[in-house]
Amino acid sequence: MKYIDSHCHLGCGFDDAFARARDAGVWGCVLNATKCDDWDNIVRIAKSNQNVCGAIGIHPWYVESVPINWNDNMRILLHDNPHLIIGEVGLDKTHGDLSVQEKIFVQTLEIAIQFNRAINIHCVHAWDIMLKILKSYRTDLPKIVVHSFDGNTAAMRFDADLYFSYSPLIANSQFKRVRESLAMVQCDKILIESDSVNIIDVLKSVRDVLKMRPDINADDIFNNSMGVFFNG
Ligand SMILES: [Zn+2]
Repeated sequence: MKYIDSHCHLGCGFDDAFARARDAGVWGCVLNATKCDDWDNIVRIAKSNQNVCGAIGIHPWYVESVPINWNDNMRILLHDNPHLIIGEVGLDKTHGDLSVQEKIFVQTLEIAIQFNRAINIHCVHAWDIMLKILKSYRTDLPKIVVHSFDGNTAAMRFDADLYFSYSPLIANSQFKRVRESLAMVQCDKILIESDSVNIIDVLKSVRDVLKMRPDINADDIFNNSMGVFFNG
């Protein structure tokens, strides 16, 4: 069995964390930025390891203090690194200034469209605004990965190339809607993630997803992830 963690973060010892995960069957991972300060490090790690897909972006919690030229830097890095994708970006009504988040997200989405790179999004209690934005770019949208999907039904019905990534949250009894969504989501749209600096946590996600969806197997999810992050 091989697995790909579609959403992890830089911890203080990424190499060790990834080596442990590799020993446990994790073939690769998508390493997401939260701040501009992470970008160079992520690009360096992804360049030196073909099993790591690097993602650069500004997390919605950290949009209030960004360098003035962040978007130029993002374009330069995407231009110079054809396998680099975008993440983690998005909207979160529970945290910070939504109007600033929206401004940064729209600018990032336009860059993703310009370079045709997949985009890893964080969306918490903000699907109304998120879907309105995505709808306005509908015909141009790249692949969109919904990280730690919360089970929103409007998102599942949205007609675009959306992928739904399930985190260990799926086993939490407080998140019934997440589990219900898994029963309905198309097989070729399912991804798994650790949502952590402990990449090995992705094994919890895959175990629970496969338990709840006996019609799919680990290879299906692996192939979905390859298509989005490593061949796409
Ligand atoms: Zn994250």
